[in-house]
Amino acid sequence: MSDLTDRFLRYTRINTASDSSSSASPSTDRQIKFLRVLEDELMELGMDDIELDEKGTLYASLPGDGYGDTVIGLLAHVDTSPEAPGENVNPVLHHNWDGNPIELCDGVVIDPSDTTDMLRYVGNTIITSDGTTLLGADDKAGVAIIMKILRTLISDGGIPRPPLRIAFTTDEEVGRGMDNFDTERFGADFAYTIDGGSVGKVDIQTFNAWSANWNVKGREVHPGSAKGIMVNAVRVLADIVGSIVSEEMPENSSGDEGYHYPLSISSVTSEGDLKMILRDFTSEGMESRIETMKSLEKWIQVKYPRAEISLELSEQYRNPGEILREDKRAVEFALRGTKAAGLEPEESSIRGGTDGSRLSFMGIPTVNLPTGGELFHSRKEWVAVKGLELSYRIVLETLGIWGSE
Ligand SMILES: [Zn+2]
Repeated sequence: MSDLTDRFLRYTRINTASDSSSSASPSTDRQIKFLRVLEDELMELGMDDIELDEKGTLYASLPGDGYGDTVIGLLAHVDTSPEAPGENVNPVLHHNWDGNPIELCDGVVIDPSDTTDMLRYVGNTIITSDGTTLLGADDKAGVAIIMKILRTLISDGGIPRPPLRIAFTTDEEVGRGMDNFDTERFGADFAYTIDGGSVGKVDIQTFNAWSANWNVKGREVHPGSAKGIMVNAVRVLADIVGSIVSEEMPENSSGDEGYHYPLSISSVTSEGDLKMILRDFTSEGMESRIETMKSLEKWIQVKYPRAEISLELSEQYRNPGEILREDKRAVEFALRGTKAAGLEPEESSIRGGTDGSRLSFMGIPTVNLPTGGELFHSRKEWVAVKGLELSYRIVLETLGIWGSE
């Protein structure tokens, strides 16, 4: 088995699930335990400036060995999603896969028609969990790829490389991956997160993301004598959701379309809350979604004059696309690196947020590169050995371009 696959399998067996209900940083101690394992491995490799901060980031550097002096950062997150079980991960290798659905325990079936890229790997080895847990390719694959890159660059001095800064981060899956990240300490000019899906894709933009949280105060009275007195928050909130046209819902949106998504309603007659998220790739599109929410608030208030309605809008993350277009090198070199790895490069959009979106706005333009994995955050998660190797190759080629120009 290759060093990359072997490393990946070893990492998947370590439980590193994050926990959104914990307010600690990082949210779980098991993430720190894994960072300590990586810290030891970085020392063995002979990396410089290895620092593990108590908030949950492991930094390290490797000096350049080429003409390029632009400092390039590589990042991967060590946590796995709390949305599927992450304890006792038992990775299973399906050798010489024949292209048929893969059946795992507990009735979990991975059907190639549910994924975008699986049939590319017929005849190759597919790695899954045993069906009782997620696999954790998101983002142990990214961690394994970075470690393998470092090993290759250190043991084979002939490959040109830029000065490198490495960061393994925590709590990406609970949206807090960049909360305690120290950009000055990191000190990269550009960066790549290795946290994407299908090989060939270079993720150059994400959504602009806002939350819209509604609170409605009604008036409670016995329903038998409610006439003219009761104001029912349940009904007001249902009306708000019912007013959003169904074309604007995530189940009817794909590609570069955005959406309004009512996430949850909890209400009794006297008071209730509705949580919504708004997503759009363009800032004009997002402005119009915000306007829609504001006029909906006015209209609902007119319709229910005795209800107390409040709407709180706040920004969650922004599309870094514009920042990446200012100095195109991070994107262009990744596209060239992808081509050099023998793939047809494709600029793509992530319909979700990444640490890279936030990092770009914190001053380090960051592009997301693939890991080869798919169906993340679920027990159907899979990655092909060849997908891992191609993802590794893409990063290595991209660094080679930075190191020689
Ligand atoms: Zn991830």
